[in-house]
Amino acid sequence: EAKRLRQDVAVFNPSAEAARALHLSLLSDLATAIQQDQLRQFLQPKRCLKTGRITGAEALVRWQHPQRGWLPPGDFVPFAERSGRIRQITDWMLARAVRTLAAWEVEGREPMSIAVNISTLDIQDQTLPARLAALLAEYRVDPGQLQLEVTETGLMSSGTDPIAVLNALKAWGVKLAIDDFGTGQSSLAYLQHLPVDELKIDRSFVQDVNADPRRQALLKSIVGVGQGLGLTVTAEGVENQAELDCIAACGCDLIQGYLLAKPMDLPDFQTWLGRTG
Ligand code: C2E
Ligand code: CA
Ligand code: CA
Ligand code: CA
Repeated sequence: EAKRLRQDVAVFNPSAEAARALHLSLLSDLATAIQQDQLRQFLQPKRCLKTGRITGAEALVRWQHPQRGWLPPGDFVPFAERSGRIRQITDWMLARAVRTLAAWEVEGREPMSIAVNISTLDIQDQTLPARLAALLAEYRVDPGQLQLEVTETGLMSSGTDPIAVLNALKAWGVKLAIDDFGTGQSSLAYLQHLPVDELKIDRSFVQDVNADPRRQALLKSIVGVGQGLGLTVTAEGVENQAELDCIAACGCDLIQGYLLAKPMDLPDFQTWLGRTG
């Protein structure tokens, strides 16, 4: 009954109608977005707290829509996932990342990794490992410099056995990270079964961690478990020095967040690298 009521409300709610129309038109636009080169790949750096080095970057998609301007992923990734079109975005992001890694190698830069976000649908897609392998071979990039981020929720809700697909990906030498860790339903114990290299602790555990000893205790224990399992542990969304001090005290390996830098396009990222060293 509650569900029917919601449906009725949705049907007669003009703003829901408008939202649906917007989504439908965006969806048809998305089909041409890739052909017409409207997607952009932004990079956000990660820093190692022990060495101070920039170890790599996370790739985040943006859509430069001809009428609507810059769209953040939250505006189109969810329904690209629902419509199955996410695969094209994933392929585009992977190709972009691999091309950048190849260019960096030619320029003789210090090796860095690029991490691409992979959705639940991609994990279910048995052709992903082969597509990835073809791409890596084409550009002759060291697979170890490419990382794939999968969310805990994505893994848990995947219909197929996620560990089998992760193992297939790992077999090609790419690195795997668990994204948004701590927000899903899985237990810490589940981690031991996953063939992953890095644990990215969700920003909700990082935000204001300095203001509450209990939050600090929680963060510290997640870091401990992650490192105990041999994983690199990254704190996401670090925004200020107080949070950073606390995260460092918890023994975290890497940080990512506005305090270090916002996501940037490739030219800006390279300029930033040059300034940061
Ligand atoms: P995510 O993977 O957890 O990425 C981190 C998000 O947090 C990014 O938002 C980033 O800009 C933002 N962020 C980074 N540092 C800070 C900080 O210090 N404070 C705050 N408040 N936010 C920070 P963005 O780029 O809007 O992406 C949102 C989500 O969209 C991503 O969350 C990811 O789940 C998804 N996404 C982005 N690009 C892709 C993609 O190429 N493919 C797929 N499947 N999903 C993507
Ligand atoms: Ca991510
Ligand atoms: Ca995340
Ligand atoms: Ca997130």
